[in-house]
Order: sequence, then structure tokens, then C-alpha cells
Amino acid sequence: MDKYKLDTLCVQAGYSPKTGQSRIPPIVQSTTFVYEKTQDMADLFDLKSDGYFYTRLANPTVAAFENKVAALEGGVCGIGCASGMSATSLAVFTVAGAGDNILSSQAVYGGTYNLFAVTLPKLGIECRFFDPDAPAEEIEKLIDKNTKMIFTETVANPSIIVLDFEKIAKIASRHKVLFAVDNTLATPALCRPAQWGANIVIHSSTKYLDGHAAALGGMIVDIANFCFKGNDRYSSFNVPDESYHGLVYADLPVSFGTKCRAQMIRDFGAIMSPQNAFLSYIGCDTLALRMERHSSNAKKVAEFLSKHPKIEWINHASLKDNKYNKLAEKYLPDGQGGMLSFGIKGSVEKCAKFMEALKLITQETHVADVRSCVLHPASTTHRQLSEEDLKKAGVPHNLIRLSVGIENPDDIIADLANALEKV
Ligand code: PLP
Repeated sequence: MDKYKLDTLCVQAGYSPKTGQSRIPPIVQSTTFVYEKTQDMADLFDLKSDGYFYTRLANPTVAAFENKVAALEGGVCGIGCASGMSATSLAVFTVAGAGDNILSSQAVYGGTYNLFAVTLPKLGIECRFFDPDAPAEEIEKLIDKNTKMIFTETVANPSIIVLDFEKIAKIASRHKVLFAVDNTLATPALCRPAQWGANIVIHSSTKYLDGHAAALGGMIVDIANFCFKGNDRYSSFNVPDESYHGLVYADLPVSFGTKCRAQMIRDFGAIMSPQNAFLSYIGCDTLALRMERHSSNAKKVAEFLSKHPKIEWINHASLKDNKYNKLAEKYLPDGQGGMLSFGIKGSVEKCAKFMEALKLITQETHVADVRSCVLHPASTTHRQLSEEDLKKAGVPHNLIRLSVGIENPDDIIADLANALEKV
């Protein structure tokens, strides 16, 4: 499969039926699986053979989606999780425990920011935030011997900051720290973080991968390009795991992915459901096509808004005068995705007035599906953040997040124009 191009992989990867089997993955709606020989089941528990014994650990429908996303990201192992938040949490827990720290870009999704700033410290894991636009030396200063991960987003939600991958990858490789990237808003159709040095790729598959606002889910992809063996930072990978038959994860070809499934999925149980995996698998078939249309529609909308007299500022990396246009040309050459943000001139009250005047575009706590939608993050997803944290996250009070769908662009623009007339 690896030899195929991305749009072919979207359609074909993940599940290859044998003669007489169903063309698309069946929904294996079963918690458990039957074995005649005790030894066969023991081998599964010992990871000596592949197969399924309990859906909390693995399931054939979930595996089809895991394999598809892993192929799209150029990784070797996918782990389907219940949501994007559980994927991020489990990825962190796979490497970090009490006394450790991680570095994270301060421009991340509000839920992730909250997890890192509030919940992780309660578990003894410190998060050191950095400005993704800061010089490498400044970011590097935050690393110490207990740093276990550098976390970033390819295109940050909702600030639409495009990541300078090479800067972060160099820091990570110099310090032998794992580099994890949330690729939710770019998707592998527009950017494959592994090509730019990422070791772990994370998704909220709830967004573009499913693409239809039908299924909650998350995905962790292990690119298996990070050496844990003998790396002092990662002692838990280099000593036998007594909770898993003395397995030494650093000795395995897929160290991170195996530890994540064998310990974290087993213990926290936040696995993706077969039904959601099925819907997400089907959604992914059209990912490449959809991302093309999302990107071209968003570019047209961004051009329209950038010329509108009632718009104070607009953020989409397709615009030539956008701060991230150069980075987008390098890392997102085939399209910059469907998410944009903008501010309306005047008081914050105008945001609500504008959003309520929209007819086609709906207000939703969601982004990245086929239907256009808007949200006012400062009063919703980011409302728990202080003034200072809002600033750090790149979320001014008048920011409106617009997720441009795949409707006809003329209709989207007409709806925006009409609503702007009302403010
Ligand atoms: N990462 C990003 C970039 C997101 O936008 C979101 C949700 O909006 C998440 C992670 C969390 O995903 P989920 O809602 O599936 O838990």
C-alpha cells in the first residue's frame, strides 16, 4: 500500500477484504472473541500473535480505521481512542508521570490547553508553555532532564498559527525528546508531520477525518522513528514492565504504540467504539477530495472578508499578507484548510449580532465538517481562560472562528455578506 499516493490511500488503505468478505469493514459490534485453544488466547495476551480478545484493547473495525490513518500519516501503528482529548491524554501518559514535564505550544485547542494547564499539574505533570513563534533558543531553555514531550498543533485551533516544524524538530532531536503533533486541522491530506520530523501524530478524528459531524474519536499514530533504547529520559521504556509480563518497550520495533495500547488503553479504557470507527473509516474515504474543497472555499471566503469594510482583521494562511503565508507555502502547499478566524470592527456585542444573522452558516461547538459553522471562542470553548491566557492562546475577544464547509462558495459568501450588513 505504501507505494500509493495519498488520495489512493484515503480510499484503499486500512482494510483489504479477502475473497468472499465484505467490501467495506463490517461493524464488529462485539465486546469479546471466542477461542478453542487456551494457548491461542495466552499467546494473544503475551503479544506473541495478532488477534482480538476484548474490544477494550483491540477490535477489527477499529483496527481498519487505525490502519488507514497510520498509512495516511506514514506511521506504523494507529491507536483509536474515544475522542481527541483522550488521544492527547493517553499520548502524554505513555511517556510522562508525576515529577515529569512536557513542553507545549501555547497556541493549542482550548480543551488541550485546559488539560495541560490545569489537569496535568494535579497529577504531578508540569506543562511549560511556549510561544510557537519564539526563537529556538528561548523554547530550548524550557527543556530539562525530566522533559518527556514537545507538543504542538500543525494549524492551531482557533488562532490558525502555522507551525514551523523544522525549528521544533531540530530542538526535539538535539535533546532526544519526543515530538508530538496534533494534525487535526491540517489532516494528512494537507500536511504529514512525519515528513518534518514528528514522532507521534495525534488527531481528533471527530473533525475532518470523519468529516460529517457523525462520530467522536481520536487517533494516536506512532511513526516509530524515535529511539527509546538507552535514552535516559525514558527509563520506563528501558526497564521491564511488570504489569505486562516483563516487556521492555524500548526493545520492540513499535515502542510507543505498544506501551500506549498495552498500558494506557488497557488501564484507562478510552478506546474508540466500533460504530464510530466505521463511520470515521467511511468518512476518510473522501478526505483528500474534501480537503481540496475546504481549502479552496476558505481561500475565497478569506479574500472576500479581507476586503470587507466591517472586518478588522482576518487570519487564513492562504492570504499573501498573512504572517504564516510563507510557512504555509512550505508545509501546506496543497491548501491551507477550511478554518479561518476574523474580528469584526467595533464592540464585542457585534459578534453575537453577526452570528445570529447568519442563515446558512450555523453556530456550533464544532469545526471541520462538511457544513460551514461559526463559534465565538472567548464566550464558549475558551471562556474558562483568564485575560492573560486568552492572549497567550491567540484568542482576542472579537475573534470569530469560521469553519468553511464544502457548500458552494458563492452561497457561503452571500450568507456572510448578508449578516455583515446587519451589524
Ligand atoms: N485537537 C484539536 C485541534 C481540536 O480542535 C479538538 C476539538 O475541537 C481536539 C483536539 C479535541 O478533540 P475531541 O473533541 O474529539 O475530544
